[in-house]
Amino acid sequence: MRIAVVGTGYVGLVTGTCFAETGNNVVCVDIDSEKIKMMRAGRVPIYEPDLESLFKRNVDNGRLTFTDSLAVGVKDAEVVFLALPTPPGADGSADLSYVLGVADKLGPLLKNYTVIVDKSTVPVGTSEQVRLHISKNTKIDFDVASNPEFLREGFAVSDFMKPDRVVIGTKSSKAQKVLSMLYAPFVRQGNPILYMEERSAEMTKYAANSFLATKISFMNEIANLCEKLGADVDAVRLGIGSDERIGKRFLFPGIGYGGSCFPKDVLALHHTANEYGYDFRILEAVMNVNDNQKQRLVNKVINYYNGNVEGKTFALWGLAFKPDTDDIREAPAIEIIKALTQAGAKIVAYDPEAMLVVKKNYSTIKNLRYAKDEYSALKGADALLIATEWSLFRGPDFAKIKKLLKAPVIFDGRNLYSLETMKDEGFYYESIGRKVVE
Ligand code: NAD
Repeated sequence: MRIAVVGTGYVGLVTGTCFAETGNNVVCVDIDSEKIKMMRAGRVPIYEPDLESLFKRNVDNGRLTFTDSLAVGVKDAEVVFLALPTPPGADGSADLSYVLGVADKLGPLLKNYTVIVDKSTVPVGTSEQVRLHISKNTKIDFDVASNPEFLREGFAVSDFMKPDRVVIGTKSSKAQKVLSMLYAPFVRQGNPILYMEERSAEMTKYAANSFLATKISFMNEIANLCEKLGADVDAVRLGIGSDERIGKRFLFPGIGYGGSCFPKDVLALHHTANEYGYDFRILEAVMNVNDNQKQRLVNKVINYYNGNVEGKTFALWGLAFKPDTDDIREAPAIEIIKALTQAGAKIVAYDPEAMLVVKKNYSTIKNLRYAKDEYSALKGADALLIATEWSLFRGPDFAKIKKLLKAPVIFDGRNLYSLETMKDEGFYYESIGRKVVE
């Protein structure tokens, strides 16, 4: 099939590459011409495991091409995917200007029947709006379908290639047929393609992300209470996770959720509920808990130094909002950097993939330096802070850490080490929802 993907970010590039991998001809469209230049030169603009080899193979065989012109991109396309940003607007609602802006331009470009597929996370009712924005400019037959994306950054390629499920929202049997053919190679093992109406598909994405965010905030509250009661959240997590109704996954406490999806999607669903006069109280709590949790490590550090961190230097391991990505949107590490540098401390940060993006976006933060590896960050620092659970940080040389730090002090926002190990290695160690090792 001939496919255009409009918006070549984490979702669009992975979508385009994976559809090319299953034999389709894919044109990726982006307004960022620097990005297009880079991809044309064979370089992947984001870090995502396994993406580079797939990208190279499909670029080399000519099935994956790039353009900054929407007209060129959709010229022969049978299916046009919209993978555009939907950031939060000033009032918390999803900003639809990217999606509807492209929809406005699509009408005059359609030549034959085309299926327009919305992959962006958009409020319920957006498909209808997209249809109206296109139809006012064309007489050509087309359909709009909602096909929310569930891939996780850090696992994007494997999630796309082997999805738990594919959700397709459309009333059109013609569009349904096209999309089921396109997705058939990805569900060969029997995972379902779930067909539903557009509004339900749009709601499914918000419900999924809001439920996951709720799970995280719930565990963070349990962890905070464990600290007060002398219980160990890791034991509690295992204790409840073995109940199949609860499940083992997504029960890890930490310093709050971040990224480009959970914060904005919870906010947008809460906003939609308000608009319809529904007081979605759980979501309000989920957001408040998360905001507090992002300050939790900072508070622990400041308390340890009796309220004064001026002149202290902290090594910070991890900048990305989670491991295996260079995405720093809403990352807890950024909050930690802001709070501690504002309080007069210096930060020396190390992240395997996200340092360039932080450098680019936060060049104005004084007292933030970067280290060439995890150990160089430690030299002469007062303590080590951990904000992202990269596997690289899970089994470090503790003797070396101790030697490089001024004092053997670790504040761990991701519970990477066992309390026994920290005791044996002679560290002062504060983590989340567990006893302090002194
Ligand atoms: P992104 O910011 O990484 O990428 C968006 C891309 O769209 C950028 O490259 C930008 O230059 C481009 N763009 C902006 N305006 C354009 C225009 N008019 N024409 C062409 N290109 C344009 O965003 P993303 O993370 O890929 O997210 C896209 C959508 O998918 C969002 O709605 C998001 O909520 C949703 N989503 C994201 C993820 C994720 O893990 N990142 C997962 C599922 C769903």
